[in-house]
Amino acid sequence: LATVVQKWGGSTLKNVEDVKAVAARVLARQRAGDRVVVVASALKGETDKLVAMAKAITETPDLREYDSMISVGEQVSTALLAIAIQEQGGKARSMLGFQVPIKTDQAYKDARIEDINADTIRKLLDEGHIVVVAGFQGIDCDGNITTLGRGGTDTTAVAVAAALQADLCEIYKEVDGISTTDPHIEPRARRLDRISHEEVLELASLGAKVLMIRAVEMAMKHGVTIHVRPETGEGLGTLVVKGDQEMEEIIVSGIALDRNQSKLTVIRVPDQPGVAAALFRPLADANISVDMIIQNVSESGHTDVSFTVRKEDRARARKLAEAAARELGSERVATDDNIAKVSVVGLGMRSHAGVAAQMFEALSKGGINIQMISTSEIKVSAVVDEKYGELAVRLLHETFQLDQPRPRVKKPAKAKGKQKR
Ligand code: ASP
Ligand code: MG
Repeated sequence: LATVVQKWGGSTLKNVEDVKAVAARVLARQRAGDRVVVVASALKGETDKLVAMAKAITETPDLREYDSMISVGEQVSTALLAIAIQEQGGKARSMLGFQVPIKTDQAYKDARIEDINADTIRKLLDEGHIVVVAGFQGIDCDGNITTLGRGGTDTTAVAVAAALQADLCEIYKEVDGISTTDPHIEPRARRLDRISHEEVLELASLGAKVLMIRAVEMAMKHGVTIHVRPETGEGLGTLVVKGDQEMEEIIVSGIALDRNQSKLTVIRVPDQPGVAAALFRPLADANISVDMIIQNVSESGHTDVSFTVRKEDRARARKLAEAAARELGSERVATDDNIAKVSVVGLGMRSHAGVAAQMFEALSKGGINIQMISTSEIKVSAVVDEKYGELAVRLLHETFQLDQPRPRVKKPAKAKGKQKR
């Protein structure tokens, strides 16, 4: 008997007809022999409506009340689903965050799940129920309702799967699965059968917006296999799994484009100890995350420092950088919003050299100038002029042959084969 957690999001639950259709799908799954937990988010648009109501009164609502209010959409959708399942002859029970309970920290609006007691869910499953858990919400140690950040139902689903030690967490989406790149940019993008948690994290944090980052982090930590599936039920979707050796044979899995960054350059700062610290400490204290940093070659004891932040943080970052720049005696701070970051991601980079060189050659052939570069164990990123971002993605997609069935690299034969258990 397999235990499956299925996440159904707002885009798959537009109205009562969708609720009935999902109920039928869930019931069919149970009748096929699985124990099924559904984690649902609010019906499409409902959370937005709740947010708008609060914001119509003030832009800065008290966050305790705000969470109490914007979590309501899930109370409706989960109860509706339970009613629909019952109406179709099944046993179902809806559960809100506090009823499970799903315990979180006290960071309203963006709370993190700390602990889930899955005993009640387990008991209900044992009794033959389909359990419908409200996504996106939890309860803090004082009994206040919290929410997990917009789109947080993915995280709830993975956390419930981890707590239940479920065999699978299925996340239904309006897409076929996870692709080699955004098909709007490169129509030859291919659906990936499998991808590792780490690669998805790189792709998601790079703006590929596949799954909520926290959900993938949690899945990685607890070893939860996520199956991203098209809501239609047709098509194989993509399995997000723990990376293994076979996956390391694939050098590049995907290409991401992030247009949501700005570049700031602090011009002519003294090249001496403590300068970078003086510049980046205030940004860190203001909770602004800095992505790429480069420091130019020093000329006559002075240097330029460039870094990127998210566009929404640019104004604040500029103020802080200007203050620091004045202290340091720098000339000025220049900003550039017209940049894009292109990244190639793949587990195989760990064991194969030359990806960066191949990437830079492709960009150079396309006449695209690289402004900044950064690398990690499984990623190479380059900042380019925004107007060439999409072109860069297409060139790289072609260069790494991502439109072909995934090329595998032959590993040198090992002395002894791997023991099969
Ligand atoms: N209903 C919430 C939102 O719209 C949570 C979710 O969709 O996952 O953000
Ligand atoms: Mg939603």
